[in-house]
Amino acid sequence: MSDEKLICMRCDKEMVPEKTNFLYMKFAFNYDLPRCPQCGQVYIPEELVAGKMASVELELEEK
Ligand SMILES: [Zn+2]
Repeated sequence: MSDEKLICMRCDKEMVPEKTNFLYMKFAFNYDLPRCPQCGQVYIPEELVAGKMASVELELEEK
């Protein structure tokens, strides 16, 4: 857990964590992600996606 506050660059509003389903490269994810209460923009941490992609690629290579 971190106390880092994420601010929506468009609205200058603080983003709040919310359970979010999203698709990335045809993979479905379900995480609590910071979302802007005003415009609904979701912030996806790069390390989350990169880590997930790395493990997926690893699994594919092992088969
Ligand atoms: Zn916004």
